[in-house]
Amino acid sequence: MTKDQAIQLLFSKIEAGRALNMAKSFILWDATTTGVPVRSLPARGAASGWISGEIFRRFVAPDTLEAIETLEAIGGGLSEYESAMVRVLGREYRKLRAVPPDEFQAFKALITQSEPVWEAARAKRDFDIMVPYYDKIFEYQRRLCDWYGYEEHPYDALLDDFEQGASVKMLDSFFSALRDRIVPLLKDIISAGKQPREITGMFDIGKQRELMPWLCDFVGYDRSRGKVAEVEHPFCSTFSRHDVRITTKYHEDNLLAAVYSTIHEAGHALYEQNMEEDMEPYRLAHAASMGLHESQSRLFENMICRSRGFTALLLDKLQEKFGDYFSSWDEDMLFRAVNIVRPSLIRIEADELTYCLHIIVRYELEKGLMSGETRASMLPGLWAEKYEELIGVRPGNLAEGVLQDVHWNRGLVGYFPSYAVGTAYGAQLVHAMKKTVDVDAAVKKGDLSPVAGWMKEKVHRHGARLLPGDLIKHATGEAFDPSYYVDYLSEKFTELYL
Ligand code: ZN
Repeated sequence: MTKDQAIQLLFSKIEAGRALNMAKSFILWDATTTGVPVRSLPARGAASGWISGEIFRRFVAPDTLEAIETLEAIGGGLSEYESAMVRVLGREYRKLRAVPPDEFQAFKALITQSEPVWEAARAKRDFDIMVPYYDKIFEYQRRLCDWYGYEEHPYDALLDDFEQGASVKMLDSFFSALRDRIVPLLKDIISAGKQPREITGMFDIGKQRELMPWLCDFVGYDRSRGKVAEVEHPFCSTFSRHDVRITTKYHEDNLLAAVYSTIHEAGHALYEQNMEEDMEPYRLAHAASMGLHESQSRLFENMICRSRGFTALLLDKLQEKFGDYFSSWDEDMLFRAVNIVRPSLIRIEADELTYCLHIIVRYELEKGLMSGETRASMLPGLWAEKYEELIGVRPGNLAEGVLQDVHWNRGLVGYFPSYAVGTAYGAQLVHAMKKTVDVDAAVKKGDLSPVAGWMKEKVHRHGARLLPGDLIKHATGEAFDPSYYVDYLSEKFTELYL
């Protein structure tokens, strides 16, 4: 196979993969955002499953490997995009090939069976019925570690799968830095006993909906190249860089939920919309990693939009829409209300300060499960102990404890840490951006274009051209350093509460 043949072959595989993935995304979009007949599920599931099989069959084929190996042998003779494509595809191919197909099929069947059992276990508050499923799921994950390979800790194989470059060594030091500063800070905040005024009551959903275009435009999400829909669990879906859709959910009794989830998803969408078009044929018009994707959503949500500057703008909008309620509020009150610290049991409802502590609990448990020290049957007890130790609360039942997340019963082990790593990337990026961009002034003016412009230049447009660690270095001039995140949290919440 010549170099040109190899490149053309990979281009055609990438194009087919893109088309098939788009079809799958349309099926999912349709199912989650429009009212579809209940009985459409089996046919839809079958079609989606067939497409997944087709994606796998076309990609994991001997000619793909031959093309990858041909290009790997050329090495330095490749263009920058070509060599990044070979790196991305080579990694993906070898991971997919590492898993024996019959084991993979059996695992998929196990996951499908475990979903209703997990639902029942939550409803009946009965962990025992879930234990045999978790045992098998974690056993498979341990085998996955062996198939993928690792150098120091088995869990490294899974961590690196979600966030290339992440390892137990890196995360142990990251999480211990967080824990050492945030746990005592949280205790001080609780004992200081300051209680900001909360936003309570019912807020008309029609009026909440009217805020959405302003929020999207503020972040810089181009609505002419996307769409906003309402769903049960918000997400962002990319069909092409000119069609990046987001979703949101309005709660009549929780005004801030849709505001911040819209900003979060718009932050994800901005990344997708800003990638260089010419990277698409090379399969590089993708986020550099899950953590970097999350860095974009979380930095807009927290570092930009839970700031004094933003809450001043938000107050104007809220007074316009809900004048009766907000007439007695001032900017400082709203700033404090969007930054309430409250130790809680549910990760997805956690405040900005305690969020990372919820991730530490899951990280430590996953680490024990992958090393074999922890068995599934030990999870409820360990969960409660760690929540008590880190956050100062104990779950009253399994639904608000160990059974709250869908990740484990879907076989996603190693995924949680990327939320925290992503947030730490975000803090480091914002810190670096502040050297040349007056972020506070931009927010205050209501014109985030210097912020979005910096992110586009330094992060978004590069897609998967660089590895996550290299991208952070390229954007900030330094290697990943979690101290920016720890410092940011500690300064912000000390000023607010102590
Ligand atoms: Zn997200």
